[in-house]
Formats: sequence, structure tokens, C-alpha cells
Amino acid sequence: MKNPSKSLPVIALVGRPNVGKSTLFNRLTGTRLAVVDDTPGVTRDWREAPGKLAHLEFMVRDTAGIEERAQNSLAERLLKQTEQALEGAQVIMFMVDARDGVTPVDMSLAAKLRKTGKPIILLANKAESKAAKLDTVDALKLGFGEPIAISAAHGEGMTDLLDALRPYAERAVDKKDDKAFVQFDPDLEETEEEVKIRLDRPLKICVIGRPNVGKSTLVNTLIGQDRLLTGPEAGLTRESISIQKNWNGRKVELVDTAGLRKKARIEEKLEKLSVSNTLNTLRYTELAIVVIDVEQPFEKQDLQLVDLAVQEGRALVIAINKWDTVENSPAKRKAMIEMCTRLLPQVKGVPLVTISATHSTGLEHLYQAVIEMEKAWNKRVSTAKLNDWLREKLMHNPPPAVAGRRLKMKYMTQIKARPPTFVAFTTRAEEFPDSYIRFLVNDIRKSFDIPGGSIRFILIRLGENNYKWRLPFSQII
Ligand code: GDP
Ligand code: GDP
Repeated sequence: MKNPSKSLPVIALVGRPNVGKSTLFNRLTGTRLAVVDDTPGVTRDWREAPGKLAHLEFMVRDTAGIEERAQNSLAERLLKQTEQALEGAQVIMFMVDARDGVTPVDMSLAAKLRKTGKPIILLANKAESKAAKLDTVDALKLGFGEPIAISAAHGEGMTDLLDALRPYAERAVDKKDDKAFVQFDPDLEETEEEVKIRLDRPLKICVIGRPNVGKSTLVNTLIGQDRLLTGPEAGLTRESISIQKNWNGRKVELVDTAGLRKKARIEEKLEKLSVSNTLNTLRYTELAIVVIDVEQPFEKQDLQLVDLAVQEGRALVIAINKWDTVENSPAKRKAMIEMCTRLLPQVKGVPLVTISATHSTGLEHLYQAVIEMEKAWNKRVSTAKLNDWLREKLMHNPPPAVAGRRLKMKYMTQIKARPPTFVAFTTRAEEFPDSYIRFLVNDIRKSFDIPGGSIRFILIRLGENNYKWRLPFSQII
């Protein structure tokens, strides 16, 4: 049979183990739930698959992982393997880990790559991390110019990657997809058509919480309630599984690492809060339902889980479960809202829904909250509106003076949605007090109807040769 992919340009992904090649490969090729692991060299086979980024199509080749037991040195093995993988590739994406900076192995790989004479796109992955420390001078040593900062795991920096790949890849003919991945334009709010396309795709949801709060019960209730259940689909990872269902007419995909599996009683008792499991689940979802047990509400671990979801930039809904056990519910509800407001100021306005997973109550409200938060998470505010708003704020509530001079903020724009991410430009980014940024973020929430979810706010210093990618992606307030 004719394979149409054969004629597509080949892009080879090269880099030392554990920089995130497989993660990017999975993102570009759509194998979302494939196994990734922190152990170096988990990718065992050389693999190639058709990839897609927005409207561009290409073949992605993920270079072979290194067998740990092989005899020669890491660098030697890498070079050999790289050589093979480069055959027939039109362009090379060379990935380094922004958290590690440039390592000697990166340097020797770079030397090798330069000799190929092929075009090289330098990617600094894991750039969303606060620990990202790769700086321009360091990266320039590699000889491929300024790197493109990305986060393969979180999908950050994909627009820049798109621009870099454009000269080498082909335009897809599939017009529908083209629109679905429409590039972010800070001057435009979401159009009706875009909303329609978005609502047509399944919303990826996960249910997270401490052990025994009722996650599995809730997931099973949600699945069991609906006859249109289409899953379970084959779980592609060892521990992840996803199920598609139709929830009040909205397609959703429940992604779960543990909750969907039937647990043995004994295991259930021993289960601990697994942060890495939760993070893994969050990575593949858009919205997290955080389940909290009304009998032990807002414990430290609950707060920690909310923080994780916020750090991952996910939309959020809080479900207070086991509501069937509550006697005086209006008073209890008030107390819950009070605790939530006090203990979780970073998600001001987050919907708090009271449910009983065993009695199937409150699920309609849960659905409404999910839909509302999905909308907020996708919110796009035009640059013009933002700056009108900023001007007014600066006039009525100006930033304080620091060292005798008033702080200034010149201009603002939203650089992306999901979660809404705002960038403000100033000459003195470091001196802005958190309290002022918090004031702005809370006002953005109110003024543009973005309650409770993750909002990112990045301050960028003007007037210096400061590269966008050097700043943390997510200065989360
Ligand atoms: P490979 O060996 O180069 O194929 O690397 P993997 O794709 O297996 O990733 C190695 C580890 O880095 C895994 O634990 C990934 O989850 C993690 N990782 C990949 N991309 C990112 C990223 O953008 N940010 C962060 N923080 N971790 C990432
Ligand atoms: P998970 O560890 O978070 O997945 O929790 P499970 O779903 O296994 O539930 C833990 C325990 O809480 C089980 O005994 C459930 O029957 C009970 N449970 C779950 N949801 C509810 C609820 O809405 N009301 C009451 N009363 N008990 C619940």
C-alpha cells in the first residue's frame, strides 16, 4: 500500500538521554500517553512517526535510547546512534535540558551535529521549570544561535517551534485541523467558530485527591451514569488509562492513573498520596477535579494538590465529597467556602461544589462548574482591552515607589490561553512587590471573568538585552 508519509520531510530529534525527546515526540505524533520515565534511556527503539504541529506535517524520528548495559561511554554511544539517525533527515532538532544548562555531552554532540551541515534547531526543553538555568551565553557556545525555549511536557513554546519548522515542513491539507490549532493572536478573542471547534473535542479531565476521599467512587459514578460510554480504551501506559464519555452532551475524556483501576482492599488501605502519579495525570489533562473529604476538609495534602494543579496550569474545580453525611448543610457549606477562600487565595473564585459520589448528588452542579472553568481557562482578552484596563489601574491604584522612584508598567498583552498567560513590560521587574501583582491578577479575574483557575503573569524587564525564554514561563501568583 502506498504510504503517503514517505514523502514527508524527516525531522530527527537528537539529544542526550532524559532531556525530553520522547515527550516531544509523543506530543508531535499524538501518542499522548506513551510511557515516559525519569530513568535515563527509557526509549529503547529508534522510532519514526508522522508528526503534526498546527498545520505543518512531517516525519519525526526519535533517536534510539541507549542501552544501559552497553560497554562504551555514553558520549561514544550517543554519537554513533546519532549518526545513524541523521541519515536522510532534512533537519535536526537538537534538544538540551534548560535545567541542566549545557553539559560536556551536549558539547560533543553539538560538534558532531555541526559537521553534518544540516539545518539545526536548538531546543531548550523543560524551560517552564523554575530551575531552568540555561543562559544565552551558555547556549550560544553550542554554535546554533539562540535556542527555542519549550516545555515538551506542558506544550509551551510550540508557536516558536512552529515558526522554526515552517521552512522545512509541509502544509497540511486538512483545513479543519488547521483552524482547530489556530495560532494565538493577542489581538483577537476567541471567535464563535473557534469555540465550536473547541467544544467538539473531548475535554480532558482528571479526578485527583488524597487517598479515600472518594475519587474512584466519583469516577465510577460518572462513567456508570451514562450509557454513551465509549471506553475503556486501551491504556497506553503502564499506569494511565483514559475513558471517553458524553457528559450532558459534552465529550469528556477521564484520564486517571489509579482511580479507574479496581483496587484490592488491602492496597486501598496502604495507598499513600502519590505526588508523582498525580503530576503524571495532570500532565495529560486540561481540567482537574480536586476531591476533598468533607469529614477532613482542606488538609495540608489537599492544599498541596491544588498547588500542583495550579503549577501545572490546569483549570480547576473543587468537589467537597461525602456531602450525604452532612447534617446542617447550609452552615457547613458556608464554612467550606470560608475555608476555601482563606486557605486557597491563589485560586480566588474557584467553584466549590458539594457532591456525594455514592448518592450521585451534586453532579449537575459539578458539570456546570467544569464547563464554567473550561471557559475561563480558554479566555482570551484582546491587547487593546487589556491596556485600557491597565491604564485605568495604573491611574487609580498606581504601583508603589521603590527606592524613591515610582514603579512603572508600560504595556501588557496576553500571550496564550489554557491557562490565560499575561505578560507585562516594565523597566524594574524584580522590584515589583508580590502584593501589587496579586492585586492586578485578582482584578484581571474580576474584570475579564476568569475566576478561580490558573492565571500566569509574567513580568518582563524592558531596556536590556533580555531574552524572553530566560524568564520563567510561569511566575505564578
Ligand atoms: P528522553 O530520554 O530524551 O526521550 O526523555 P523523556 O521524554 O523520556 O523525558 C525524560 C523526563 O523528563 C521525563 O520524566 C519527562 O516527564 C520529563 N520531561 C520531559 N519534558 C519535560 C518538560 O518540558 N518539563 C519538565 N519539567 N519535564 C519534562
Ligand atoms: P479514593 O481512594 O479516593 O479512590 O476513595 P474511594 O472511592 O475508594 O472511597 C473511599 C471510601 O469512601 C469508600 O469506602 C467509599 O465508599 C467512601 N465514599 C466515597 N464517596 C462517598 C460519598 O459520597 N459518601 C460517603 N458517605 N462515602 C463515600
